[in-house]
Amino acid sequence: MTQDQPVKPSDHALGPLPEHVDVLVVGAGISGIGAAYHLTTQRPGSSFVVLEAQESFGGTWHTHRYPGVRSDSDLHTFGYRFKPWTGKPIGTGPEIIDYLGEVIEENGLGRHIRYGHRIIAAHWSSVTNLWTVEAQRGADAERCRFTCSFLWMCQGYYRHAGPYTPDWPGKEDFRGPIVHPQIWPAALDVGGKRVTVIGSGATAATLVPALAARGAHVTLLQRSPSYYFTGRNANELADTLRELKVDETWIHEIVRRKLLHDQALFNQRCLDEPDKVREELIAATRAFLPAGYDVARHFTPRYRPWRQRLCVIPDGDLLRAVARGQVTMVTDEIERFTPNGIRVKAGEEIHADIVVTATGFHLSVLGDIEFAIDGEPLVLADTVTYRGMMFTGVPNMAWVFGYFRSSWTLRADLVADFVCRLLGHMEARGARRVQLALRPEDAGMSLLDWIDPEDFNPGYLLRDLHRLPRRGTKREWQHTQDYWREKDEFPAIDLDGEEFIYA
Ligand SMILES: Cc1cc2nc3c(=O)[nH]c(=O)nc-3n(C[C@H](O)[C@H](O)[C@H](O)COP(=O)(O)OP(=O)(O)OC[C@H]3O[C@@H](n4cnc5c(N)ncnc54)[C@H](O)[C@@H]3O)c2cc1C
Repeated sequence: MTQDQPVKPSDHALGPLPEHVDVLVVGAGISGIGAAYHLTTQRPGSSFVVLEAQESFGGTWHTHRYPGVRSDSDLHTFGYRFKPWTGKPIGTGPEIIDYLGEVIEENGLGRHIRYGHRIIAAHWSSVTNLWTVEAQRGADAERCRFTCSFLWMCQGYYRHAGPYTPDWPGKEDFRGPIVHPQIWPAALDVGGKRVTVIGSGATAATLVPALAARGAHVTLLQRSPSYYFTGRNANELADTLRELKVDETWIHEIVRRKLLHDQALFNQRCLDEPDKVREELIAATRAFLPAGYDVARHFTPRYRPWRQRLCVIPDGDLLRAVARGQVTMVTDEIERFTPNGIRVKAGEEIHADIVVTATGFHLSVLGDIEFAIDGEPLVLADTVTYRGMMFTGVPNMAWVFGYFRSSWTLRADLVADFVCRLLGHMEARGARRVQLALRPEDAGMSLLDWIDPEDFNPGYLLRDLHRLPRRGTKREWQHTQDYWREKDEFPAIDLDGEEFIYA
């Protein structure tokens, strides 16, 4: 692809001429920083810019600053394949930010990133074969425009500006603060307070022991229990290799391979012998709790393992806090808020000074950007996903959506390789446009929801499945959760296959 001339979009007010780049990356989280790295190393001739709505990099790790914030998967695989992770497997939010900062620094990526740029619209023109991207920048939301040949969507999966909190009855009656972890007030003092945390996901599991450690008495109110991995926050293989003075680059690669190997075996076991895996996970949980503890009620999930993301609680810290009596588990549904707390359906009233709603996210499919193609609004639900990376009928755009069951970044790296290869292929063919389309052999293929709710079903996805692209019955038209196949399939994709339409 060559440097194109800037164009004036006909449907926008005339302003200063847009700035043109070959590739425009949306978002400076782990995926966008990775995209910038891969463009720098694999496409050194391409001009690019990363537009980020927030005032700094890190995405999720910039937004989430609640006590104890940390990864829930290991950083050997959640880190990039190209930059060794040298800390403990489960990293804290600040450690992850430092790691990302080093990637930016070491690779000179900072000059490509523009902070405080919220993209609001992206319009494709088949006349110019360009996207015109409109952003608001700065405190006064000044409008600015860019044109680009290729749009690389690294916007993550949820709305950073505002979290999801269900509308429970009586919320306004509650006398204390109601706080969401996504917008944690830095000055909130929980020492000596009764804090009820609502939720059963990774955020609740992380937050609860951290609040207990700050002197709060915490009630974890969950509708239904989750599975946990309770292992040590250490990797024996990495530690041994370090003792042997093996180079960190090697350690990173070896430990990644071992972890991925073990995860593949574990995933397979979840499919082949789910009951056995379930028993093992629950037995490991029980081992931390006092004799007679009601594990059946509070720690025995109703779903089979791996249907929702499995959360690592290093050294069983949540369970230790329960065993010490610092955390009370309540497994029930909320009937209503009261002035003094929350009444659950069984009738009990949980008294609280502070309520924390670790209740998840608003799905943000494409960064809440208004998309149009040749003047027609893009309805994503009318498209079909191409391997969870592109959409039928949407030219020159790739989308990064990582794995739910493995580390997100494994997929971000794979998608990056694919995009860089595709850009090189377009250049070699002299093509200015690439678009995916169903092939004649796909005629009559059933189109289904983007993911199979029987396979993986977190609330934020189920609430908004109708807004997501469709899935076919063949692998090309599915967003799979299978790193082990995709790592071999993506590099082997035939870019001249019938599904790729170039112009
Ligand atoms: C607390 C927490 C812990 C997690 N732990 C793990 C884990 O251990 N392992 C794992 O695999 N996953 C984890 N996840 C999931 C996690 O979000 C992803 O793995 C990963 O951080 C996503 O990176 P990303 O860059 O794709 O998206 P994000 O981190 O969401 O970053 C997207 C960026 O794009 C920007 N953006 C969005 N829309 C626009 C727009 N219109 N204009 C400009 N900028 C825009 C946002 O401001 C943001 O900075 C966790 C999530 C949370 C909330």
